[in-house]
Amino acid sequence: MTDAARPCVIAGNWKMYKTIDQALSFLDIILPVAPKCDCEVLLAVPFTIIESAAKKAEASPVLIGAQNMNDASEGAFTGEVAASMLKDAGAKFVLLGHSERRTIFKETDEFINRKIKRASEIGLLSVLCVGETNEEREGEKTREVLKQQLSKCLEGVKYEKGKLMVAYEPVWAIGTGKAATNTIAEEAHAFIRGVLRELYGEEVANGMPILYGGSVNASNAATFLKEPDVDGLLIGSASLGAESFAKILELRQNRANT
Ligand code: PEP
Repeated sequence: MTDAARPCVIAGNWKMYKTIDQALSFLDIILPVAPKCDCEVLLAVPFTIIESAAKKAEASPVLIGAQNMNDASEGAFTGEVAASMLKDAGAKFVLLGHSERRTIFKETDEFINRKIKRASEIGLLSVLCVGETNEEREGEKTREVLKQQLSKCLEGVKYEKGKLMVAYEPVWAIGTGKAATNTIAEEAHAFIRGVLRELYGEEVANGMPILYGGSVNASNAATFLKEPDVDGLLIGSASLGAESFAKILELRQNRANT
């Protein structure tokens, strides 16, 4: 079970899916469910949806955020979006370092580090994604990779409460239908918390939510949430359907009263 010092966070990553109308219909279903659940709900939506979704979710506990941003404050970067623009559109958070950004768009830890610093300057919560490839796991390099990604991405990042979370997303589990086991997830999360302890000290490490992501669905979500260092979930495909996402949220229903 999640440590009382840490909130449970259920986040969805919509990737490059949904129109504004589809997003608003999704929210029609999710907005009445979210307040009954003992968790923070985050939705990382396409840029085009941020403003209308954020307006619709304004009076609710659902936070709308982005899936990426540029590290520069502004400038001649055709096609890019700045942190201040995300905030202006109503975003409260941004996913940074997702493996699809790292592999397809060749983003480096150094670039991600600059983005986290910019997001923090603007007041956006950064959800930093880290995780090893299958090859790295098989080569027993998981810890080394996680430590390197965390140390480089967080180098010089000052901790501010509520402005940083980590998502453990093993690359081999993303979009493959092959989720990690709860034991693998717990082992990686405990290791990540240890690295956070080295970087920020005991109190910060104990208070920072670490989410698991990779082929989570309504059938396997509960097994992860039982683990002591798994404070929530980052969900891709199963966050696209309002019914499947609601089922996952409902795992936390009335949790405070049980
Ligand atoms: C993701 O894209 O962050 C993710 C975890 O995807 P999926 O749940 O589809 O594996």
